[in-house]
Amino acid sequence: MGMLVYIFHSCHTPYQPIKVNLNYKEVPHLQNWAHDAKELILIWTSRIGKTLDIDTYPRNIDLNIIKSEEGIAFTDSNSITVSSHWIEKHPQDIGLIVHEVVHVVQLYPKFEPGWVTEGIADYIRWYIYEKKPLHWFPEGEAEKGFEAAYRVTAGFFAWISEYKQTGFLKILNREMKMGNYNEEIFLRELGKPLDDLWKEYLIFRSSYFSK
Ligand SMILES: [Zn+2]
Repeated sequence: MGMLVYIFHSCHTPYQPIKVNLNYKEVPHLQNWAHDAKELILIWTSRIGKTLDIDTYPRNIDLNIIKSEEGIAFTDSNSITVSSHWIEKHPQDIGLIVHEVVHVVQLYPKFEPGWVTEGIADYIRWYIYEKKPLHWFPEGEAEKGFEAAYRVTAGFFAWISEYKQTGFLKILNREMKMGNYNEEIFLRELGKPLDDLWKEYLIFRSSYFSK
């Protein structure tokens, strides 16, 4: 009976498979990398959706590997573009795809604050996908170090999810998704203002990670 109740009350949308439209015609020699990247997208899009508690992400994702001597990668809505020169110099950097897929799943109405958007993307890439330990993440140097975005913020978010509140990133993500971000969320959910949490994180690091 319990099972029946569960099924009738389930409100999850039916499983919709991910489709990747792969284009690397300008750089056919990067075929293997392109196919590995496509597979990462197929596997990680729904995982990222679950991690962030978002079900409304695009199911059709474009992956374009372009011939270019500049830039690394960027995402516009459901379209990911990666520059050939970067792959040629750093073929092992396939995890950048996971970072970009986070942006596809996020699809926030506004990018700001960028440190939150980029911090979440790097948290998922480096902490969840690459499985880097907390001490691997850099501390940054600024007083409001969390604003450094990318790996610095990612370490801060990893610490929050491990030591403060497991579900915090889902809540933060929901506010971002609604275009409602306000720094008060840190005080409300974690009991301390953002600046104080950052200080606590640095103290944690200095007491746990001896140089
Ligand atoms: Zn990014």
